[in-house]
Amino acid sequence: MATRLYEHEIFLEHITPPGHPERADRLRSLNIALEHGNFAGLERKQAPQANEDAVTLAHPEEHLFAVMRQMPEEEGEINQIEADTYASPKSFQAALTGIGGALAGVDDVFSGAADNVFLAARPPGHHAEKNKAMGFCFFNTVAIAARHAMKAHGAERVAIVDWDVHHGNGTQDIFWDDPNVLFCSTHQMPLYPGSGAKSEEGRFGTIVNAPLSANDGSEHFRDAFKSRVLKAVDNFAPDLILVSAGFDAHYRDPLAQINLTGDDFDWATGRLMELAGKHAHNRLVSVLEGGYDLEGLAESAGMHILRLMRG
Ligand SMILES: [Zn+2]
Repeated sequence: MATRLYEHEIFLEHITPPGHPERADRLRSLNIALEHGNFAGLERKQAPQANEDAVTLAHPEEHLFAVMRQMPEEEGEINQIEADTYASPKSFQAALTGIGGALAGVDDVFSGAADNVFLAARPPGHHAEKNKAMGFCFFNTVAIAARHAMKAHGAERVAIVDWDVHHGNGTQDIFWDDPNVLFCSTHQMPLYPGSGAKSEEGRFGTIVNAPLSANDGSEHFRDAFKSRVLKAVDNFAPDLILVSAGFDAHYRDPLAQINLTGDDFDWATGRLMELAGKHAHNRLVSVLEGGYDLEGLAESAGMHILRLMRG
């Protein structure tokens, strides 16, 4: 498989307050893992910065302007945008560069430049609703990528699979009444942000939630993933699979109590690649979301990327 990874120095310059779990060391830790010879075949590229207009693929202009207004200007300054969401002077540029990497990844899988792509960016995006920055997220990167695939490449059906341990409320909000985007999520419940019950199905039944309970491990996760997520994606027959790849369901993660290991992320990646091969000419773009234990993140994201490379 030709696998590309998009990265950029600017992602380290989105600064959160000391002790905040969503910190630049997350990417530094992944970068150390990627130095292993196993990753020699990975095509690493600089993410291009998206134009501000790209944000409006998934958010109203008012949201873009509201976020821009809240960005601090002075070096060293940090603004609290919402309960646990903070911005530093380079945060807006980092967010736009993350979006640029996701759009480039979508372009790559449609042009055939890559079979699949991983975006190693921060801040994350899946909690950002149409009109609201929250949960460390300003803009919903994966949602913007889905809309771009439809607008620029004529994709008719896009599936977004979100295995971050927190429910992707933002993505669900954006696609609630869109019959052409399937959103499937496994997550711990109850847990932040509180949404993600099985009964939340969207206006057209294209929202599929598979909640897990605290202390669930590999077996519960794989059962839920098979019976709800994989089944829904297979039936939907998407032209593209996007992954909201959070790694905070790892057993070491401090923000949740699901006990997955790197093997589970390897397994889930393999199953999605089979469906991407069956329906979508292998097209799969994976976007980093959460994952707050440095060792757990490096292990599980590393195994995810290796599986993308090996097919
Ligand atoms: Zn999360």
